[in-house]
This record gives sequence, C-alpha cells and structure tokens, in this order.
Amino acid sequence: MAVRITDECISCEACASECPVAAILEEGNEKNPFDDIFYVKPESCVECVDHADTPRCAEACPTEGAIVWDMPYTSDFNDYYASKNEEGIYKIREHKKKGLMLPSVKEQKFIAEVSMEERESGANVSDF
Ligand code: SF4
Ligand code: SF4
Repeated sequence: MAVRITDECISCEACASECPVAAILEEGNEKNPFDDIFYVKPESCVECVDHADTPRCAEACPTEGAIVWDMPYTSDFNDYYASKNEEGIYKIREHKKKGLMLPSVKEQKFIAEVSMEERESGANVSDF
C-alpha cells in the first residue's frame, strides 16, 4: 500500500473522490473487505506520487488517525501483503491471467521520504 484506512473512519466520503487513481472504496462495496469503513486498495494506491505533493485523501480527511501509513507496495513486502490478504485485512484483486496482483506481479510507487519507522508504527499520513 501505501496508506491504510483505520477503524477511526467515520465514512464521511470526503476522501474517495480526491484519489487520482480511484483506489478508495466506500463501505458496502463488494471489493471492500470491511462493512463499516472505507478501504484503500493497496495494489492501486501510488501515495499520490506524480499527482500531488502529499496524499490527497489525507488532506481531505477530517478524522485524526483514520488514514495511516502502510508498507510500500514493493516486492520486499510481498509476503507481508500476501499474509494480510489471507487474514482479510486486504482484498487484493485477482487478475484472470496474472492471478493475485501482489507486489511481485506489479509494484506501485511510494514516497521514499516516509521512514520505515513511520510506516511500521502506522503514523498519521496527515502529519507528513
Ligand atoms: S495516497 Fe493518493 S493514491 Fe493513495 S489512496 Fe490516498 S489519494 Fe489515493
Ligand atoms: S475522509 Fe477519512 S473519515 Fe471520511 S471516509 Fe475517508 S478515511 Fe473515512
């Protein structure tokens, strides 16, 4: 990913329309593994690289702690995303020919300036 939406989300809908790559799904969407919060598709999120200076979803979000950093969507974190997908934390897209769209199939851009510490601790994206 990229960024992750937490239980703090109040489903206000402010973020989804701001995403330049349509990576955010509303509650109730069949591709969203959660019933009561919005969801960022990690295989699609590019952390707004080449679109904006900072993540647009976090700029729009009124709720402290609702959008936090996650790991880069790169091959180094393939096992991480595979296991979280099994746990149901993510619902990574299954491509007809390529299979599960894990980072080993397609990596995504990420903001290199965000430290691993911030990512591992799930720091607020709005503080970036
Ligand atoms: S960081 Fe950017 S690309 Fe990722 S979900 Fe938020 S708005 Fe979309
Ligand atoms: S803007 Fe924040 S609180 Fe509103 S739906 Fe998105 S993540 Fe949830």
